[in-house]
Amino acid sequence: MRRRRIYEGKAKVLFEGPEPGTLVQYFKDDATAFNNQKQGVITGKGVLNNRISEYLMLRLSEIGVPTHFVRRLNMREQLVREVEIIPIEVVVRNVAAGSLAKRFRLEEGSALPRSIVEYYLKNDELGDPLVSEEHITAFGWANPQDIDDILQLSLRINDFLSGLFHGIGLRLVDFKLEYGRLWEEEQMRIVLADEISPDSCRLWDIETNEKLDKDRFRRDLGRVEEAYQEVARRLGVLPEAGPMDLKGPKVMQ
Ligand code: UDP
Repeated sequence: MRRRRIYEGKAKVLFEGPEPGTLVQYFKDDATAFNNQKQGVITGKGVLNNRISEYLMLRLSEIGVPTHFVRRLNMREQLVREVEIIPIEVVVRNVAAGSLAKRFRLEEGSALPRSIVEYYLKNDELGDPLVSEEHITAFGWANPQDIDDILQLSLRINDFLSGLFHGIGLRLVDFKLEYGRLWEEEQMRIVLADEISPDSCRLWDIETNEKLDKDRFRRDLGRVEEAYQEVARRLGVLPEAGPMDLKGPKVMQ
């Protein structure tokens, strides 16, 4: 079936959905880092992230977190509700790593006094700058009520996912969330959108501190495909078929 392409991002493509108000989210194997300066392919990533994100979104909706996820359609695609994306990346951190460790010269892996939530503007040209609530409300990207909802949801998601990953021997170091506005009968609701996967989380093995996330790609640590597979395996969502099948079908033009 030919579908209209609505948007193409770095790791995903959004197509028009089968009914109004829906979209099809297609997961690619492409990987980028450092604001597109590093590009590559992680074979099978799209298939695995589709499953991992499906699993996590379903578990979150079971505890009452509203999400855009409807259902998985096939190896690389999921049906989602069409939302108006709020142009803010919400980062939740439990352990110092990445840009936070660099900015404050903290040792990677050092515990934070409490979980820290940060907001970044989604803008590639500007390199996704860190922004404050003041910037967000003054420039109208979201209002104080939206920010309140987003903060409460993000902290709940962090508590829930930290426990879920702990149960499979992984430390949820930090992660990025995106939210969208969904209108239902004149009422607006903020719902979790995008994806939750090793592309958007830092996950370290609790025993060995081994990194099982996109940092393996960013920092050329090797065994990148294996890391994504290991996360899927521990979550119990690794497709039955062998690694050959992880290549899955090519994107339809
Ligand atoms: N992150 C993301 N997309 C981005 C930036 C960050 O998914 O555009 C995730 C990243 O994978 C990590 C967390 O957000 O889990 C915090 O990232 P950080 O600010 O440390 O930036 P990085 O070191 O990834 O540049």
